[in-house]
Amino acid sequence: MKLTESMIRGIGMTSQRTRERLVRRLREKGVMSAAVLEVILQTPRHLFVDEALASRAYEDTALPIGYSQTISQPYIVARMTELLLANETPRRVLEVGTGCGYQTAVLAQLVPDVYTVERIEALLQQARRRFRQLRLSNIRNRHTDGQWGWKEHAPYDGILVTAAPEEIPSELLGQLKIGGRMVIPVGIQGQQHLTVITRTEDQYMQDIYEPVTFVPLLGGEI
Ligand code: SAH
Repeated sequence: MKLTESMIRGIGMTSQRTRERLVRRLREKGVMSAAVLEVILQTPRHLFVDEALASRAYEDTALPIGYSQTISQPYIVARMTELLLANETPRRVLEVGTGCGYQTAVLAQLVPDVYTVERIEALLQQARRRFRQLRLSNIRNRHTDGQWGWKEHAPYDGILVTAAPEEIPSELLGQLKIGGRMVIPVGIQGQQHLTVITRTEDQYMQDIYEPVTFVPLLGGEI
């Protein structure tokens, strides 16, 4: 289906005013980056969920996207993006866990090259369609188990993981550039924390942030 301008802009519960309310809420919750907030304002989140849920797309909550997965809460998307961009804007970013593609779309408006991988093919196919419809042409995607990263395009200035492993996969650490950073939820279900890893010349530095709730990072492709 071809999207019209008005479908992207939204009406009623998906309109600009509803989106402005969401952005105000994110600011109140502590999101500081003006660039990130502007992208959240411009990104039609209602097109990343099922039509039946479109009227709830600008609530600050996670929503189901099928296959036991969710679209992340806008606050979490904003927060992770802000943490990833905290020092300088990364050129090349790998996202693990495309899901519906919302976080990918946000990233693609802030960094030059986005690589994203997803283990559930059906979700990736839907996300691909959305990227095309929204003319986001700087996203490359692949159906694969993201625990192994995407070696062909490594190393990355930034890696953003949107599903939680109990421990950080070492393959991902290896695909991070020196000076690069990874934003990743880590921990067992119910005890995950947003974590930022920075790779220096000779070590990986770890900063632990707020508790979060993510779906688990699972192995294999389906
Ligand atoms: N980025 C999404 C979040 C989707 S939820 C958003 O913007 O809302 C997390 C996604 O990670 C799910 O789609 C899940 O299938 C995927 N995932 C889990 N383990 C994975 C793995 N090992 N490799 C790639 N994707 C994975």
